[in-house]
This record gives sequence, C-alpha cells and structure tokens, in this order.
Amino acid sequence: MSDTEAELMPRPDWTRAEVRTLFELPLPELIFQAQQAHRRHFDPQAVQLSTLLSIKTGGCPEDCAYCPQSAQYDTGVDAEKLMSVDAVLDAARAAKEGGAGRFCMGAAWREPKDRDLDTVCRMIACVRALGLETCATLGMLTADQAQRLKSAGLDYYNHNLDTSPEYYERIISTRHFADRLETLTHVRDAGINVCCGGIVGMGETREDRIGMIVALASLPRHPESVPINLLVQVEGTPLNGTPPLDMLEFVRMIAVARITMPASMVRLSAGREAMSDEAQALCFLAGANSIFCGERLLTTPNPGRDHDRDLMGRLGLRPMTR
Ligand code: SF4
Repeated sequence: MSDTEAELMPRPDWTRAEVRTLFELPLPELIFQAQQAHRRHFDPQAVQLSTLLSIKTGGCPEDCAYCPQSAQYDTGVDAEKLMSVDAVLDAARAAKEGGAGRFCMGAAWREPKDRDLDTVCRMIACVRALGLETCATLGMLTADQAQRLKSAGLDYYNHNLDTSPEYYERIISTRHFADRLETLTHVRDAGINVCCGGIVGMGETREDRIGMIVALASLPRHPESVPINLLVQVEGTPLNGTPPLDMLEFVRMIAVARITMPASMVRLSAGREAMSDEAQALCFLAGANSIFCGERLLTTPNPGRDHDRDLMGRLGLRPMTR
C-alpha cells in the first residue's frame, strides 16, 4: 500500500486521548483539519439530501429520555398504526420530486414483529424500485430479520449508539449499550450499510462526547453514515429543560466526527430548526455533508425545503447525486 493509500484508510483505533486533543484544538485549526479530511474523500460542495418518514408513530415501550414517541411520557404524540405500503410510496415519490436521493423509514418499535417486517420489506422493495436509496430504523433486529431486510433490498439501517457507553444508562434504562452493538453486528453481517451516530446536548459532558466518538470510530468498520443530532427538547420528555449546548461545541463535534471517520457521510440531523443559518454553515465547513430535508423529522419540526434550498444556494452548495 502506498503512503497516500494508507493516509486515505479510515482508522479504527482512535484513542480517547487523541480524540480529546482534537476537541481541544483552536477552532480554526480544528476546522482546517476537518476540511482536509473532507476534501480527501468528498466533493466539498455536494450535500446529500435525505428524507425521513415516520411509518409507525408513537406508543413505543422504550424509555429514551429524549423521545416524544415513548409511551412512558405524556408528550401529546398519539400511537398510530403502521402506514400502508401505498401511503409510504406516495411520500417516497414526493421526496424524489423534491430532490431526495435517500428515503428513510422510521418506526417507533423496540423491535419489529415478524408480521410487521413483511410489510416493511414490501415498502423497501417498492421505494427502491423508484430509484431511491433505502434506509430503515426499526429498533433492535435479530440476525434473521437483518437478512430479510437485506433480501428486500435495504441499503442502510439506522441504529444510533445515542451517547457514550458511560452516559447511556442515564438516558435509557430499557436496553443496554451492548444491545445496540449486537444489532449493529447483525446489520453488518447481513451486508447492509450502517447508519449510526448519536445525540448531543442531553446534559452529557465533553468526556461523554469524546466517548461517543471513540465508540463510533472503533466499530469494526466505520458506519457509512454518521448522524450527529442536537437534542430537540420536547415538553413531557425527561430531558426537556436541559441547558442548551453551545453551538460551537456542536460544530466541534461535527469536525471531530469528520476527522476520525473521514470516509463516512457526516449528517447534520435533528436540531437544525433551532440553529441559525450561520451555525449550519459552520457545520458544513466542519465537514457535514448530509442533511434531512422536509418539514418534519419524525415528530419534530425541521427547516422546510424552501429554506434549505435558499441556504444551500447562498452557501454555493448543491445536492449530491449518487
Ligand atoms: S428513540 Fe426509538 S426506541 Fe427510543 S422511545 Fe423513541 S421510538 Fe422508541
């Protein structure tokens, strides 16, 4: 392997000390390094546009402290049934017309029942036939369920680590960090691309943010997509009222994700509605190259398509083509 090839190989062996050093860099230096990493692997003007549809909303038995869809919190989100295949297809066609290249389907389940998985597999096959990349987030999977999704044509499975292993039990008590890793193994073994990131601004410390990056960057293979979410505070959830995270710390998080996982799509995910255009611009400078577009992100608000189109135009960015 040449020196250049070696430099391009993503590293799975980042240490906490190395990641901490990155977080502590002066911001201009950190962004410079993130830009270098970004430009080695990607066109810096191209941003992937994805759409996320909630195909089964609310009534989830899990107790994720950030989530308005948990049945354990009174958030005004009602439990709904799994959508029909036709309704999902209509949404996918609209997303494609709006410029989306990837269509993500999210269901508020601890894990899918096999009967429901049959319907989801039909959705995946139909959405893929439209020429869109497919992604699903359905909770924990068995090895067999992951294989069935792969056979239906699923391109990506989203399953976030959420936070650091140390902070995990402060956020969720109904499952363990190790459960997340097990599902990720099943997804990888089935040959599905992995979308895996987490949420910041949940009251965690910088050490927890470092721990989350190290956990992501030490997976046997880096996730192909790394969504970095900013907590969206929702009344009724235990995390409502958490002191907001400094946006510059969020920008650092994006930059460190870009440097440590240079060949992954780093997705600026939930929380954009609360960010200024300038803060989002800094996130793109720090190496974010994917966003969700559309008015809603599952049950929470998201900037509208017109606003995103306008912002991308002002920044000289354009939608990524496959
Ligand atoms: S984040 Fe997912 S698993 Fe957790 S409560 Fe919400 S829908 Fe359920």
